[in-house]
Order: sequence, then structure tokens, then C-alpha cells
Amino acid sequence: MTILEEPIKEVSTLRNYIGGEWIAPQGELIDVVNPVNCKVIAKVPISTKSEIDAAVETAKEAFPEWRRTPPVARARCLFRLKELMEESFEELSRVQTMEHGKTIDESRGETRRGIENVEVAAGVPSLMMGYNLEDIAVGIDEYLIRQPLGVFGIIGPFNFPFMVPLWFAPYAVATGNCIIVKPSSEDPISQTKIAELGEEAGFPPGVWNVVNGGRTVVSGMLDNPDIEGLCFVGSTPVGRDVIYRKCGETGKRVIAQTGAKNFLLVMPDASLERTIASCMTSFYGNTGQRCLSGANLMIVGEGLDEHNYNAFYKKIVDAFVNAASKIRVGYGLDESVQMGPLRDKSKKLRVIEFIEKGIEEGAKLNLDGRNIRLVGDWPQTCFLNPSVFEDVAPDMTIGREEIFGPVASIMRARSLDDAIEMIHNNPYGNAASIFTSSGKWAREFQYRVQCGNIGINIGIAAPMAFFPFSGMKDSFFGTLHGQGQEAVRFFTESKVVIQRWF
Ligand code: NAD
Repeated sequence: MTILEEPIKEVSTLRNYIGGEWIAPQGELIDVVNPVNCKVIAKVPISTKSEIDAAVETAKEAFPEWRRTPPVARARCLFRLKELMEESFEELSRVQTMEHGKTIDESRGETRRGIENVEVAAGVPSLMMGYNLEDIAVGIDEYLIRQPLGVFGIIGPFNFPFMVPLWFAPYAVATGNCIIVKPSSEDPISQTKIAELGEEAGFPPGVWNVVNGGRTVVSGMLDNPDIEGLCFVGSTPVGRDVIYRKCGETGKRVIAQTGAKNFLLVMPDASLERTIASCMTSFYGNTGQRCLSGANLMIVGEGLDEHNYNAFYKKIVDAFVNAASKIRVGYGLDESVQMGPLRDKSKKLRVIEFIEKGIEEGAKLNLDGRNIRLVGDWPQTCFLNPSVFEDVAPDMTIGREEIFGPVASIMRARSLDDAIEMIHNNPYGNAASIFTSSGKWAREFQYRVQCGNIGINIGIAAPMAFFPFSGMKDSFFGTLHGQGQEAVRFFTESKVVIQRWF
């Protein structure tokens, strides 16, 4: 076992970055803890209303000059930011592993995805272009221009501390807006690192701000009339009942990407080897703490009689359990480790409650992740190994609700129609995948399933930065999504000009 060098060597107190200055916090401080060894790695302030108001004020002051800065010059700041991120790539990735617990490869993937959004947003001179038509009437032309709106708030979840705010932030500033990022207080260090690089990249003071904290900061953003819109990623109750509702009442733009319960279908003609390999990263990647995690594995018996269906079901369950039992769990800075801990003890206890509920409601626990086996001698506080339930019914708690942990629920479906119906009966609509070699079944699935992200022979259908990060039903509230061209549209207002030439 070799542990890579830890980039965080001493406990520092994070500051807020407001108006180009690192401001000493006023609010109470809470610990940021490495979930592997339970050591405190930083202190984060829970900022007050006056601190968020100060950030909005400074962002508002920076806006007029930043919006007048030519898009090509704004893009140059993003190019420099990208270069600085590349130079710090490994450090940024290791910080994520320390503050969140994910494996170093998962962190490297997250860093790469974050940087890709900076790269795409740097194309703003093209992305932001309007369009025109000559002679809408004789001697009269009409054209559309896109303009920034002002100040936006970006509220991140704990599960992707580096990448998720970058689904929005680069597009917001590229189009001429100013932003305030509020990271999750559970793992806020990555966003401080990004702001440090943004400062070095030359963003003018007040354009890119970070205010740490929790609900007070979010309420401050929601109540502040100078915030034009909010981008939120987190749980459905907060996204729907707090953020979306309040933005509707106050007329703010909103993107709220929320919770999930994702179904993966295995058809009888799927490649067993590829399906199981995809399932392992899908179900247990990021320790199941991912809005695109596999949650329910549905074994579909389309065209099979009962005898053959039972044999097919058993073959998949056995292969799945065998692979899951071999996953190496430990500290993500050990490159041989495949799964890290839950982000904290309360999240682990929540997952255990789901496991107990599954047993109580009659599902069969085939692999019990509460039996903890680790690579290395770490406290077990936040760890679980992979769990697998079989014979899960879709109306059981574990089949219906978001667990957000390393627990797979295997279900039976006799036909593709049955499987699609079960997906549609679930309130979420974030992602669904099908494993099959039949073009007909794959087409039918992508055509009918009401989910924003569809995988065909792939477990994790995470859209690239130049595609929107989609979602439906209880997984998304808003109109436009983060990433790519849709983000550019979210952060701009279109204005139509009609001109008569004298
Ligand atoms: P969360 O809702 O607890 O917190 C998200 C953010 O909201 C944090 O910054 C938090 O400080 C703030 N917050 C929490 N409670 C609040 C309240 N009552 N009022 C105002 N602000 C509040 O979510 P989380 O636990 O950090 O993240 C996990 C959730 O995020 C999961 O449900 C997951 O599916 C979802 N998620 C969704 C996507 C997506 O694209 N759909 C991506 C990543 C994560």
C-alpha cells in the first residue's frame, strides 16, 4: 500500500474571496474533516448575511466594466485559468480526495471534467453570437444580441466539490456576468483553490467571488434583489421547495439540478462482461454518492420463458455480487483502491438505515457492506463496503428513494414495457441505461424513457461539457441546464433590434 503525498499539510482557516480580497470571516468556524482518518484538514466559516450582502454589492459594482470587456478578452482570462488548472492538476485532484474521500482516479476525472467546462466557455466569442436578417421590410434589418444580466449565485453540493460549480461559473463570467460561489461547507477547499487560480488568471476584483457557509448564505442570495439568478445542485427537497419556489416568487432565473434514482436495464442479449464492468463503476463509483449513480439494476426477461429467465437472472446476480465483493475499499490516495468512504459518519448511518429498511421490507441482502474490509488500517467511522440486494420491488423504500451510498438493488422485469413502466412510476428522471446488442430495444428505450441522461451500453451517461447536463421530473427544476450552449443562454438575455437605414 503506497499513499500519495497529501497536498494539505496544515489546518488553515478558509477565508471568503470578495472583491479581489481574502476577507477574514465573521461567522462561526466549522471543521472540514478527511473522512478516511477523521482528521481536521481545514476550518470553514459559516458566513453571515452581511458577508453575502457585501459580496453581492462588490459583484454588482464590478459588473458594468466586466460586461464592457470584449468577450475575447474575457475568454483570455479563462484560457489562463485553464492553463493554471492544468499546472495544478494533480494537486487539485488530491485535495478533492482529501476533502471528499473519493479515489484519486475519480478526482482526476472530476478535475478533467471541470477543466473541460472552462475550455468550452472560452469559446464565448462564438457561443454568444446573435443573428440577423436583412430586409425584414424594405430597408429595414432585424438582429438579435445576447447580453449578460448582472450577478449570479452558484450553490454547490458536497459530492463533486470541484466540478459542479464549474458547470456554471465559467459560462457566467465568460458572458460578462459576475458570480458568487457558495460551495458545500462539507468540502469547500476546492472552490477556494479555484478562486486563487482565478485571481492569478487575472479576473478583475469582484467578478469571481466565493462566500463560504450554509443556509444563511443561500437565504441571503435568495432575498437579495441584486442577484439575477441562481444555479443550485443538491437534493430535491432543497432544490424544489426552497430554491425553485423562492426564485419563482422573486422572478429570478433558476437552474436547480436535484436528486436521482437511476435504473440500469440488462437485456438477455447484453454482453455479460462489459455490462458487469460498467455496473461496478456505475453503482460504486464515488461510493454511490453521485446523481448519476446506478441505483436499481433491472434484469429484463424480454422474450424468455420462465425457466430461461430464472437462469439469466441468476447468472447476472452471481456475476454482479462476485465483482462487487472484490472492490478494494480504502484511502483514495492509494492508487490501488477502487472505492473510498462515505463523506461523513451521518451519511454512513443514513445508508445503514436504508439497508435495515431493505431487510425489513423483505428484500434479500446478498452482499452486506456493513461487514467492513479495508485496504489499510483506517478507522471504520465513514466506511462501508459494497452492498447488493436482490428481489427488490420498486415500491420498497430501497427501490424508490435515493440512498446515495454503495447499495445496489436488483429487480426483476419480465419485459421492456414492464421495465419502462417501473422507471416511469419512480418520481425521479435523472438517468437510465440499457445494456443490449439490439438496436430495436435500444432505440425503443431512448425514445420512451423519461430521463434526462440516457446510456446505451454505458453505465454512467455523464454529458460532456459541450452538451447540457439534463434531468427531468423530480431531478430538475428550471428550463435551461448547466454546461455548453444552454448555460450561455441561461446567463444572457436576448435583445432584438430593428433598424431602418436612412
Ligand atoms: P443538499 O441539498 O443538502 O445541499 C446542497 C447545497 O444547498 C449545499 O451548498 C448546502 O449548503 C445548501 N443547503 C442545504 N440545505 C439547505 C437549506 N435548507 N436551505 C438552503 N440551502 C441549503 O445536497 P448535498 O447533500 O450537498 O448533495 C447531494 C444531492 O445532490 C443528492 O440528492 C444528489 O443527487 C444531488 N446532485 C444532483 C446533481 C444533478 O445534476 N442532478 C448533481 C450532483 C448532486
